[in-house]
Amino acid sequence: MAGLVRPARPRSESRPRDGCGVFAVLGHVDASAHTALGLHALQHRGQESAGIVSHDNGHFHTHRSLGLVGDTFSSPDVMDRLTGNAAVGHVRYSTTGGTILRNVQPLFAEFSFGGLAIAHNGNFTNGYSLRRELVKRGSIFQSTTDTEVVIHLMATSSYHAVEDRMIDALGQIQGAYSMVALTNDTVFGVRDPLGIRPLVVGTLDDATVLASETCALDIIGAKFVRDVRPGELVIVDAEGLHSVSLFPPARRRFCVFEYIYFARPDSVVEGAGVYEVRKRIGAELAREAPVEADIVVPVPDSGTPAAMGYASAAGIPFDLGIVRNHYVGRTFIEPTDRIRHLGVRLKHNANRASIAGRRIVLVDDSIVRGTTSTKIVEMMREAGAAEVHMRIASPPIVNPCYYGVDTPEKAELLASRLGVEEIAADIGVDSLAYLSIDGLYRATAGANRDDDAPQFCDACLSGDYPTGLTDQEGGDAPAQLPLLTEQA
Ligand code: AMP
Repeated sequence: MAGLVRPARPRSESRPRDGCGVFAVLGHVDASAHTALGLHALQHRGQESAGIVSHDNGHFHTHRSLGLVGDTFSSPDVMDRLTGNAAVGHVRYSTTGGTILRNVQPLFAEFSFGGLAIAHNGNFTNGYSLRRELVKRGSIFQSTTDTEVVIHLMATSSYHAVEDRMIDALGQIQGAYSMVALTNDTVFGVRDPLGIRPLVVGTLDDATVLASETCALDIIGAKFVRDVRPGELVIVDAEGLHSVSLFPPARRRFCVFEYIYFARPDSVVEGAGVYEVRKRIGAELAREAPVEADIVVPVPDSGTPAAMGYASAAGIPFDLGIVRNHYVGRTFIEPTDRIRHLGVRLKHNANRASIAGRRIVLVDDSIVRGTTSTKIVEMMREAGAAEVHMRIASPPIVNPCYYGVDTPEKAELLASRLGVEEIAADIGVDSLAYLSIDGLYRATAGANRDDDAPQFCDACLSGDYPTGLTDQEGGDAPAQLPLLTEQA
């Protein structure tokens, strides 16, 4: 889930962030406890806020808070209140709209048909334009998230049944969405027509579970059943699961960046194990950009599987030349540019014993602004590295994502301003190479990128946006949202 107005984002908020994570259970006496665990496994997809809405016998219960899942749901009092055998949950990274409580998901609304809670991962590319129309027609928005548009579209739909209202609403939305929703007796899960963001179905005893990634099924011992298909609405109730295809079949365009960076390595997304894909990416990189060196050093944790793949394909020893402090929360390192720089130091430290006097190949998954690379390279030099060669396990990121990955504006993306040689000089390495787009596709799809029918959404790398971008093209988004500032 992301906010609505990209251009107005304050600088302090413009750090790249993950999209969100969603989770839902129907048919388990411990629905909320399982949802809290599922969200914990999805914590990497959003560390800013967490929320659960449960349903028990006609009543909904919720707890939503800024902060990490473990802190939000650690109190037995909180968990005891979230009764019922159905629940939906969400972990979030905000974009515009900022860190305010009323944006914390799942959102909940009371309709003529009863209550509905909804949680969203992705971003609508016509969210603002829909919001403006709805406001003109009298809707009063409580949050600044694009997700709330679904609620108003459903409320004003001329259809009667919940399912039909939802289908009516989704038909008006453009962009990327994996959403889960909960009513009195039903859990819904839906993916956008191109399947840009992930969503899987699992089972736990007689319960049905929906989650952004399979690692959230693993944590509760649920069995993976299948991915929700692009454009599919799954409806889970006492009768079981049934499915509706909302859109004509289209070539799927799953987000390739989930493989590069977002998804947890132990997840299986769209039929491929993320860890194995990342190792293959590293191996491709070694073939495309070999270099004579003594050790291959990952930038932990995101660069580790690709570095393993690189080391084994290149026949160069893999070594842990950088140690990561796991107790540094992302929110902690976020607030200002000054702290952002410091953040890299708080998070990583050189392991002198393996670096000093060695020619090293540093492997990281991506360069966004170049902050991390610059600091890490400096750290390697200070630790006495003889040579520092950087290998990046993705092609250059040259475009913002409008589908739920909060990348900075184009001008702030290092590779949109500088060529590879200039970036090498900027970050201070002896050599730099990125994976080619075909190399990435060989490692993920097993074939080169088909330019006429690409197998993924790779807009951040190619500029090929697979949906309309109504809000971006309109250019008339308001300068400021929200109007009300709220103390967290
Ligand atoms: P930067 O320091 O701005 O170049 O960011 C690059 C680092 O951020 C890499 O080490 C990546 O692992 C990580 N990264 C890449 N994309 C994102 C994202 N969307 N959100 C958070 N971190 C990211």
